[in-house]
Amino acid sequence: MVQFKNVFTGQETRNYNRATTSQKSLRAGGKHNDLENVGYTARHHTFFEMLGNFSFGDYFKEEAIYHAWNLLIKEFAIAKEKLYVTVYYTDEEAASYWKKIANLSDSRIIRINNNDNFWSMGDTGPCGPCSEVFYDHGDKIPGGLPGTKEQDGDRFIEIWNMVFMQFEQLDANTRIELPKKSIDTGMGLERISAVLQNIHDNYETDLFKEIIAHTENIVKVKAEGNAKFSYRVIADHLRASAFLISDGIMPSNEGRGYVLRRIMRRSIRHANLLGSTEPLMYKLLPKLVDLMGSAYPELKRTEDFISNILEQEELRFKVTLERGLKLLDEEVANLNDLVLPGEVAFKLYDTYGFPIDLTEDILKSKQISINLEAFNNKMQEQRERARRSWIGSNESKTDQIWFDIREGFGNTEFLGYSLNELEGKIV
Ligand code: ATP
Ligand code: MG
Ligand code: MG
Ligand code: MG
Repeated sequence: MVQFKNVFTGQETRNYNRATTSQKSLRAGGKHNDLENVGYTARHHTFFEMLGNFSFGDYFKEEAIYHAWNLLIKEFAIAKEKLYVTVYYTDEEAASYWKKIANLSDSRIIRINNNDNFWSMGDTGPCGPCSEVFYDHGDKIPGGLPGTKEQDGDRFIEIWNMVFMQFEQLDANTRIELPKKSIDTGMGLERISAVLQNIHDNYETDLFKEIIAHTENIVKVKAEGNAKFSYRVIADHLRASAFLISDGIMPSNEGRGYVLRRIMRRSIRHANLLGSTEPLMYKLLPKLVDLMGSAYPELKRTEDFISNILEQEELRFKVTLERGLKLLDEEVANLNDLVLPGEVAFKLYDTYGFPIDLTEDILKSKQISINLEAFNNKMQEQRERARRSWIGSNESKTDQIWFDIREGFGNTEFLGYSLNELEGKIV
């Protein structure tokens, strides 16, 4: 909804006051990071498609709930007994509309007293209570209702989040009512597809199934047991990587480029686990373009470019991946406890190109953690070394200012080359 932020606060107007959207979403870093969940849950991806409906000072709570219920029950014909909703614990208004419109009993309207049901973009900006809709996939699947301690299971899956945008947070202590109350909702296409295809797991819906079957044909290992996990990660990361590259992001060691590189290297490691000796990811791309290229023509347009980047990154990382894995195996065999020294994780990062979350992911199945404090100290030392050699070579005041800014704000990335390349050569 970032693109609509100023419309919600009234600073900007549009020549429409309702909108529906389908947005490409990526949750692999920052406030929302689902990278760790991929493969482990039935419902999380790094890249997914989020459907939404918006009102800018037009309809509000009652009509939003009416539309949501109508779509789920009438248009999608979902059985009412399968649905539960949550509201923010002080939002009696929303609870009363769920009763009135959907005739839901109190036991199906769950009041939540935490930020899961209060949406804000950051410390300041438009915000408001939310109401989420959950689908019950049945008692064969572990998991509890929202608000219970078992809620992290996959039985009750959140399919839709409605934000009632009614406040603006001006600073830590001041929250005002918005002059025009608005609606912002998000529904995960893959989750609603699973429901409508009578499937529990997103990874078994049509789009994923085909990618996984295609991968199985190439790799020639059955998608069962541990291998199944790798197939899911590969399918997810293929989508994320392809869409990011088609949007002009290149794998690099900083900023957005590093988010992409981390995703790509995880999938490359899973390809390796499945026994792939040749680069795999670029061979899966034609299938993805086949499945999604008509909805996303940018995938088709940049297919050759994406293919090239996927292959190059895999070729490059393969050189150090196996050596790094060998080193890690040796270190793990010599451990006296279940903590890998930070220095080893740093060596893997620095010499073998293992992002820290990749090492964490590899060790997770062995219940081994990393001494992150020692790892971070090594990273800090490296930054200081770079700083000293820079200052040593040129002792100007400007450099000092540059380093101070970099330390305060972190790395930024120059996008000129890749974007121009994309416009000039590829598109
Ligand atoms: P969850 O609690 O299951 O992690 P969420 O509350 O973090 O979901 P929202 O931020 O409310 O999700 O996003 C709106 C909708 O987008 C969700 O209701 C869900 O349908 C979908 N969604 C969110 N995260 C993912 C994801 N990682 N993969 C697929 N769909 C997602
Ligand atoms: Mg989440
Ligand atoms: Mg949630
Ligand atoms: Mg939510």
